[in-house]
Amino acid sequence: MYKTKAYSAASATSPLASDTIARRAPTEQDVQIEILFCGICHSDLHSVRDEWGGTVYPIVPGHEIVGRVTQVGSAVTKYKPGDLAAIGCMVDSDHTCPRCKAGFEQFCQNVIYTYNSPDQYKTAPVTYGGYSDSIVADERFVLRVPDNLELAGVAPLLCAGITTYSPLRHWGVTEGKKVGVVGLGGLGHMGVKFAHAFGAHVVVFTTSPEKTEDALRLGADEVVVSRNADEMQRHAGSFDFILDTVSANHDINAYLNLLCPDGNITLVGAPEKPLDVAAFSLIMGRRSLSGSNIGGIPETQEMLDFCGKHNITADVEVISIQKVNEAYDRLLKSDVKYRFVIDMASLKSQ
Ligand code: NAP
Ligand code: ZN
Repeated sequence: MYKTKAYSAASATSPLASDTIARRAPTEQDVQIEILFCGICHSDLHSVRDEWGGTVYPIVPGHEIVGRVTQVGSAVTKYKPGDLAAIGCMVDSDHTCPRCKAGFEQFCQNVIYTYNSPDQYKTAPVTYGGYSDSIVADERFVLRVPDNLELAGVAPLLCAGITTYSPLRHWGVTEGKKVGVVGLGGLGHMGVKFAHAFGAHVVVFTTSPEKTEDALRLGADEVVVSRNADEMQRHAGSFDFILDTVSANHDINAYLNLLCPDGNITLVGAPEKPLDVAAFSLIMGRRSLSGSNIGGIPETQEMLDFCGKHNITADVEVISIQKVNEAYDRLLKSDVKYRFVIDMASLKSQ
């Protein structure tokens, strides 16, 4: 075991503050990574404030991690000290169930998330995430980072990237499809970039009219201000697929009614309270509503390689870790363009 610097929250109402945590010494299949950048996901905020229930304190959030390998165990084959490497939302799973074998570790009953999951190594009660100096994980959950991309913009790919890439791929978003992205935040702006890269006609739905120009720059073909009922009505019954990334309660029926027959809306946003679904919104047009949880490790690597090939990164605002509580407040006001990323050098100098 060794000690490393981190930022943690002591309760649902405490701000994040400087702390020291324990990490296990790398075992033979482990990779130790010095964290250079960590993105701030809205899930970090939901978890810190215990909006989904089940948060164990202290919590060290952060699951959009990029850095450099500092040490590897004797059985590690894919990484060596000095390599760039990344970790997303998961650090382990049981490796034996059909879901793991199919590369869907995110659906494994025994998945271990990067933070707030039971720590099987008993280094701490739960796993601790990326708002820290370093992390240790099984090499099977470590991702290769394309070396042509700007690192701060790569970090958000590990959650916002894969969480939008995976459902867009699963639901067959390609050229000729009309695709909506609801909410232009961290996830939403990546959804727009990917849907555009896949060749779809992309429509952004936003509550923030001032984001219109950015949405078009990011790859949207059209922008709809969702509070304007007339603008919404113009698109009734016309979408093949809609990706809903909204973090707070909203009227899902307004979007279901925009789907064409057999169209699908997939929720990736995870508001605190249940959404009301009107049966008729689904019945009329055999529409479907589904959800999607991040993506498996093979697909995460595929997404990173796709980003390397197509030069795709997140649009980021890099902050020091000392500004993290301010960043949370701004995230709640949808005031982020379009992902906060912590420069971990600021933690070293603390
Ligand atoms: P974010 O950056 O805060 O973006 C959320 C966006 O939703 C905002 O920018 C805003 O976009 C819109 N929005 C916020 N409040 C709204 C309201 N009251 N009504 C309508 N629209 C509203 O958050 P994020 O990091 O992208 O995460 C989004 C959600 O996805 C969170 O709930 C997060 O926990 C969840 N998530 C799920 C997964 C998964 O695997 N399924 C993975 C990661 C995150 P506009 O300003 O454009 O309206
Ligand atoms: Zn996330």
